[in-house]
Amino acid sequence: MNQYDLIVVGSGPAGRRAAIQAAKLDKKVLVVEQGKRVGGVSVHTGTIPSKTLRETALNLSGWRERGFYGKAYRVKQEISAEDLRRRLLITLDHEVEVLEHQFARNRVQSIRGKATFVTPDTMAITKDDGDVMHVMGKSILLAVGTKPFRPDYIPFDGKTVLDSDELLEIEQLPRSMVVIGAGVIGIEYATIFSALDTAVTVIDPKSTMLDFIDKEIVEDFTYQLRDRNMKLLLGQKADKVERLPDGKVLVHVDSGRRIATDMVLFAAGRMGATDTLNLAAAGLEADSRGRLKVNPETFETSVPNIYAAGDVVGFPSLASTSMEQGRVAARVAVGAIAKEPQKYFPYGIYAVPEISTCGLTEEEMKERGIPYECGIARFRETSRGHIMGLDTGLLKLIFSLKTRRLLGVHIVGEGATELVHIGQAVLNLKGTVEYFVENTFNYPTLAEAYKIAGLDAWNRMGEGPKEAPVATSQSTDTAATTTEPAFEKKKAASK
Ligand SMILES: Cc1cc2nc3c(=O)[nH]c(=O)nc-3n(C[C@H](O)[C@H](O)[C@H](O)COP(=O)(O)OP(=O)(O)OC[C@H]3O[C@@H](n4cnc5c(N)ncnc54)[C@H](O)[C@@H]3O)c2cc1C
Repeated sequence: MNQYDLIVVGSGPAGRRAAIQAAKLDKKVLVVEQGKRVGGVSVHTGTIPSKTLRETALNLSGWRERGFYGKAYRVKQEISAEDLRRRLLITLDHEVEVLEHQFARNRVQSIRGKATFVTPDTMAITKDDGDVMHVMGKSILLAVGTKPFRPDYIPFDGKTVLDSDELLEIEQLPRSMVVIGAGVIGIEYATIFSALDTAVTVIDPKSTMLDFIDKEIVEDFTYQLRDRNMKLLLGQKADKVERLPDGKVLVHVDSGRRIATDMVLFAAGRMGATDTLNLAAAGLEADSRGRLKVNPETFETSVPNIYAAGDVVGFPSLASTSMEQGRVAARVAVGAIAKEPQKYFPYGIYAVPEISTCGLTEEEMKERGIPYECGIARFRETSRGHIMGLDTGLLKLIFSLKTRRLLGVHIVGEGATELVHIGQAVLNLKGTVEYFVENTFNYPTLAEAYKIAGLDAWNRMGEGPKEAPVATSQSTDTAATTTEPAFEKKKAASK
């Protein structure tokens, strides 16, 4: 039986980062992937396909130029499903090629097959032809990700009633669409199709959406969706979905509403892909959503030498955080020092418009009792915004009144997922409002909104103390409990 230092099950962001990390530490690593090609959900059905689809939709529809040329502006009058798929296939090929090259370069072995536990350190790998081989690992990392939740009451047919994996295979763009589920995936696809002129209705039993995002940002976002005629049926439940003889689908809503539509996307949740792992043989148990519990710092499960990382361990379920989790898990698994990741990571929602956020929301500031001030900038206040014809877009910064540190950055609008990294850097480097006031930003850029928002807050906060504030151990302000960065101290002393 082949023996490895680390067996990684799954080649998504968590698995591949873990495998490469362990290989770089000279460990013998095997990646087991049941899919046709390496890459996981991220490459084949999740992050990359949805973002490629978004990019194609925005480019071909001329969406970004409509602020200038009017709502009727189109780059291509008739956009087909084939137009969307073409770019997708090229992008996916490229992604897989890069990955395979990374594995080869780092001498990571990979095998195609389904892994199941035989004992806590032995796995059986069933290949497509039915052949079974056994492998042993000093450590095993489960990076198996998730799959769409498909409840029995939804009559999925892969053509008119679909989950988010199947949506990538559609042959025709729908004229109308009902999206069940106002989570990140549902909202991303709803807004992408809306940008393609599909009449979209979103249904969700919760009366609010994207609750982990700053409320003011969600309000601005929601206003923009309603302004372009998207229907948001929040606080309402789709209790029956019926395929009609004429090819349409009828969605029954608990409020009594009936919506006839060309297509239904069911995007209400995902399940950890643990059902086929034979967890019991390893002494492990998943929760009701198929997820595994781990130590959030080391990614160890309750069984020694078995680790889990990525979407299978739950929130935030992002490709970006999964990679970092995989790296840390691999280092712990092979006995290397694992540095704790930076405290603040960004969350990106690639809807149309984009949302991105890092740090604390205004609601969290209130909950924690941290005195704060906000600074707001609208993209239309920037020269770059004028040039681009933007009439929407908002950047919000939240500062602690005690320490003047940036504690939250929240953006909705063009380029939000890129812009957020400026705020993220300032947050993790413990910068204050003065960073934005005193620094020069390229002009004209959307990043200039940081300066405008910084000044907006500064105007209300005033000059502040000349000396760096002293931390108090009783403070509930997380930033206040850490000492000020050295460069700030030096600056304060030289004044
Ligand atoms: C529509 C959609 C859009 C998304 N957009 C974004 C985004 O914009 N940004 C972002 O950061 N994140 C996004 N995500 C989330 C992102 O895709 C996930 O966070 C990421 O893929 C999780 O990585 P992972 O390593 O946990 O596993 P996955 O990428 O889920 O990969 C797991 C792999 O394990 C394999 N596997 C499972 N069981 C076994 C087994 N028993 N044996 C062998 N192989 C097995 C599977 O075949 C799969 O290839 C999106 C997700 C979806 C669905």
